[in-house]
Amino acid sequence: MAQDELIVVKDLNKSFGKLHVLKDVNTTIRKGEVVAVIGPSGSGKSTFLRCLNLLEVPTGGHVFFEGVDICDKKTNIDLHRQKIGMVFQQFNLFNNMTVLKNITAAPVKIRKMDPAAAEEKALQLLDRVGLKDKANSYPAQLSGGQKQRVAIVRALAMEPDVMLFDEPTSALDPEMVGEVLQVMKDLAAEGMTMVVVTHEMSFAREVSSRVIFMADGQIREDRPARELFADPHDDRLKDFLSKVL
Ligand code: ADP
Ligand code: MG
Repeated sequence: MAQDELIVVKDLNKSFGKLHVLKDVNTTIRKGEVVAVIGPSGSGKSTFLRCLNLLEVPTGGHVFFEGVDICDKKTNIDLHRQKIGMVFQQFNLFNNMTVLKNITAAPVKIRKMDPAAAEEKALQLLDRVGLKDKANSYPAQLSGGQKQRVAIVRALAMEPDVMLFDEPTSALDPEMVGEVLQVMKDLAAEGMTMVVVTHEMSFAREVSSRVIFMADGQIREDRPARELFADPHDDRLKDFLSKVL
C-alpha cells in the first residue's frame, strides 16, 4: 500500500436483507484529498460513507484504514473511529450539554485529555469558526448553521485523520449554507482529508479535488472534479448534472 493511501475500499458490498445497496465499490482516498460524493437520492451515498467507519457493517469486501482492515473482527474499531470525524445532516449534538461540553466530552473521556487542556483547545476551535461566545450555550439556543459549525468543531477536537460529511448543509436554511461551507473550505485549504456527500455542486466543483458519482449502488465515475464537470462520460451522470446544475 502506498504511503499516501488513507482509506482503501475493495469490492465493498452492502445488503440490507434482500436489498443490494452497494455493489462492488472500489476506490482509494489519499491524504489531503477532498472527495465529493454525488448522485441521486437512494443511490447508496450515505451507506458508502457509513461503511468507511463501520457505522454500517459491509456484507462483502474490505475497507482498509491506514493499512488496517477495519472489517476484520480482530480490529479494534473504536481505536480507528477516533481517527475518523463524522458530521451528519442532523448535527447529532448532545442537547443536554453545553457547546463546550459537547466538544470536550469525547477528548476527555476517550482520549483521556486533561479537561482544562481540552477546554482550551475547544475554545480555540470555536474561535476559528466564529462561535467562541457560544461556548456556554445549549444547542437549542443555536441556529442550524451554528449547530453544524459546533458539530464540525466537535469532530475536529478528536484530531481526526479524515473528516466524513454526510450532506452537512441539507438541513439548513439557505442563508446558513454559506457559513458552513466556508468552514469546510477552510479545512480543505489546511490540508484536511475529507469525504463529503453533498448536493452542493458549487462545493464539489470548486473545493473538491475529486468527485465520485454514484448511481444504483455503484461508482459510475470517479475523476478529478474539473474533468468530471467539464466532460462527464457516464449517461446517468450527464442526466444527473442536467437536473442539478
Ligand atoms: P443516499 O444516501 O444516496 O440517498 P442511502 O445510502 O441512504 O442512499 O440508501 C440507499 C438504499 O439503501 C435506499 O434504498 C435505502 O432505503 C436503503 N437503506 C439505507 N439504510 C438502510 C437500513 N438501515 N435498512 C434498510 N434499508 C436501508
Ligand atoms: Mg444519504
